[in-house]
Amino acid sequence: MIVCKFGGTSLCDAARFLRTAELLKKDARRRVAVPSAPGRRREGDEKITDLLLACHTCGASFAPVAERFRKIASELGFPGLLDGALGEIASELPRQSRDWTLSRGEYLSGKLLARLMGWKFLDAAQGVFFLPDGGCDMEKTRSALKAALPRDGGLVLPGFYGAAADGAVRTFPRGGSDITGAVAAAALGASLYENWTDVPGVFSADPRVVPEAQPIASLDYRELREISAMGAGVLQEEAVLPVREAGIPIVIRSTREPQAPGTLIHPFGSSSGQAVAGVAARRGFTPVMIEKTLLRADPAFARRALETLERFHVPLEHMLSGVDTLCLVVPEAALAPQKQAVVRALLDALDAETVEAGVPLALAAVVGGGMRGRSGVAARVLAALADAGLRVRMLDYGAGGRTLLFGVDDADCDDAVRAVFHGVLGESPFPAH
Ligand code: ASP
Repeated sequence: MIVCKFGGTSLCDAARFLRTAELLKKDARRRVAVPSAPGRRREGDEKITDLLLACHTCGASFAPVAERFRKIASELGFPGLLDGALGEIASELPRQSRDWTLSRGEYLSGKLLARLMGWKFLDAAQGVFFLPDGGCDMEKTRSALKAALPRDGGLVLPGFYGAAADGAVRTFPRGGSDITGAVAAAALGASLYENWTDVPGVFSADPRVVPEAQPIASLDYRELREISAMGAGVLQEEAVLPVREAGIPIVIRSTREPQAPGTLIHPFGSSSGQAVAGVAARRGFTPVMIEKTLLRADPAFARRALETLERFHVPLEHMLSGVDTLCLVVPEAALAPQKQAVVRALLDALDAETVEAGVPLALAAVVGGGMRGRSGVAARVLAALADAGLRVRMLDYGAGGRTLLFGVDDADCDDAVRAVFHGVLGESPFPAH
């Protein structure tokens, strides 16, 4: 059985609803659909969830939401289908919570899709349950979803919300239909979680930087984590955990190009064996260089450095150490407003000779589960950067063995990604194992 989640762009108008229904009907194993609320139809358009948020936060009119759903319903041949629900929502809005208000987009989307498919509709407040700490109550969710899944036919479960321990509607973070899909797949023991979105997978490099980049055919969960951490991911960690724990593969596919196979994410550390699957980079880091002779003689040195960052709420991105130096790489945005104070505090706490915040750095990750146990990957990456005339400011090939991380000047970020793509992934990629 396959659980399919459809993002907002896959349900933004009647034509996309029809295409989604067609996709669901194409494979009899697709028996659970998790819809988002309608998203943007074009640039500058509003997402239904944003319109609902405006209803709650600034008392904006509900009419544009109702109008959009009425239009979709009547174009699908069900005029009036949502009239009752829309009327109820309009009158409830003034006394309802933020989460209830935001969840109505998915609720209505689910009603429409269920009707279009002739499938059972399950209000997510009766199917997905939260624990008091905000996590998902998998046990309760599992029994509710198992009981609700019809023997024949399918089930539509709206994404993004469920019920809190006290029964009130509660939402996941924005974009949370991905989480509902993963929770449903794990709860029902699906063989596959299909995440249908508007991009045909995880790209081997950002296609805005490298137009030739293609979706990666397959990754394992760890590779996905590493490449997502550098901004290439299309799924949040919270949306991956339930299926990862249950050992269920995910495929990320696009409803705009349903013929494309997408990116398959396998569970069991069964790396695709690619030496290099992709490269991703993020700008906006600052290296904080700490110098102190014999710093290694002090076993508490690193702890005190990290405690100081913690005190200022500056997260640590990376840490490198040398004989008499420790380099803390931190997000520039967190450091900049309090740079002097943090430098001063580090000097004091560590009795350091110098502490210097360097010029902004971009970090790039070259990811591939097959890179360990192979020679030549670092050589190829460094040669590609050298050929492009780019200076490497930091290099870390240690942790995990499936990522080579390097830092370049912020301004060189895109050039570095292009150089690695063309030098390592492009023309003559490493052969698979
Ligand atoms: N509609 C919600 C949002 O816009 C949830 C989702 O689309 O996954 O954040």
